[in-house]
Amino acid sequence: MKNQELLLVPGPTPVVDEIYEALASETHGHTDPRFVAIFKNAIEQTKKLFNTNSEVYVVAGSGTLAMEMAIVNTVGKGERLLVISHGYFGDRFTPLANAFDIEVEVLQSAWGERVDPQLVAETLKMKTFKAVTITHADTSTGVMSDLEALVPIIKEAGALVIVDGVVATAALKEDMSKAYGGNEAYKIDVVLTGSQKAIGIPPGLAIIAVSEQALAAREALGSIPAYYADINCWRGVMDNPATYFATPPVNLIYAYDAALKIVLTEGMETRETRHIAFGKAVRAALRSYGMTPLANEYVAAPTLSCILYPEGIEDGAFRTSLAKRGIIVAGSLAHLTGKAFRIGHNIWGIQQLRCLNKQLSRLERH
Ligand SMILES: *Cc1c(COP(=O)(O)O)cnc(C)c1O
Repeated sequence: MKNQELLLVPGPTPVVDEIYEALASETHGHTDPRFVAIFKNAIEQTKKLFNTNSEVYVVAGSGTLAMEMAIVNTVGKGERLLVISHGYFGDRFTPLANAFDIEVEVLQSAWGERVDPQLVAETLKMKTFKAVTITHADTSTGVMSDLEALVPIIKEAGALVIVDGVVATAALKEDMSKAYGGNEAYKIDVVLTGSQKAIGIPPGLAIIAVSEQALAAREALGSIPAYYADINCWRGVMDNPATYFATPPVNLIYAYDAALKIVLTEGMETRETRHIAFGKAVRAALRSYGMTPLANEYVAAPTLSCILYPEGIEDGAFRTSLAKRGIIVAGSLAHLTGKAFRIGHNIWGIQQLRCLNKQLSRLERH
């Protein structure tokens, strides 16, 4: 087992040995048939993950590149984007949209709470928006969005639904074929994600899945202010990975293919149930120590929690003391810095449990 520590930051998450082995495979040329077969398989598995027959794109970059690809390929200069923000990562869409001269409006909840869907409906009635972003789970607050409520409201208003799945994909279902509210026209248009959170491989991949309607939006835009982030530049590679646009991260693709095999073998139903259970268990355990999750249980994300410290616990000392015992958690962002820590609920599989046991037995000895 290569992991020496239990990495419980929201991401990167612990990497299992099978994936370390895939990463350490011999690097083939990016047009070598042996690599091309693996890349093809990874693309097919990505489609299965999102349950879509439309297009997916897997490129070198972090989750933020995936955010940029989602926006720049669907919303043009001067068009309106509505952001439903439950924290720091929702807010990130604002400077991103500004960089491309997109008109952006933000509906922001208090940290730990959700934006009222009614407010979304009212905002969409007042003006026309090209697209609306939903951060599936916001990694700063541990708040999960209610896709069931939001997707029909957005689609009814004729806007594209863009879901930021960076801390949700592969733990929470993101089914692009699902007809929300039972209406065939109410489906997610774009899911964007990164490799290092619930997918469980190291950072370095930006992944997006794009509906037919979102592809039509890309075509309607004509030329866009992007090159590397333009899906039109990548389409040839995704259709036939033997072709070249820009060199793919060969070893990360090996790892990604191996990770998706693990994910699809376990199945999204089981994975979602497991994350919900772990999230609840971790929050209940921490509550018994006098710590309070920022998000109430009703809106809490199954993949990570932001936990407020009780009086008298100093952030730096707390995290250093945990780190000495091999457990790594994250500090908090923006105005919560020093007041809370964040813990991922990505303990999965026998290897992580073994690692957790090892750390806990060390903890007992102290
Ligand atoms: C981590 C994260 C991002 C940013 O991803 P990077 O890989 O750090 O660029 C965006 N959105 C959410 C919800 C995240 O959790």
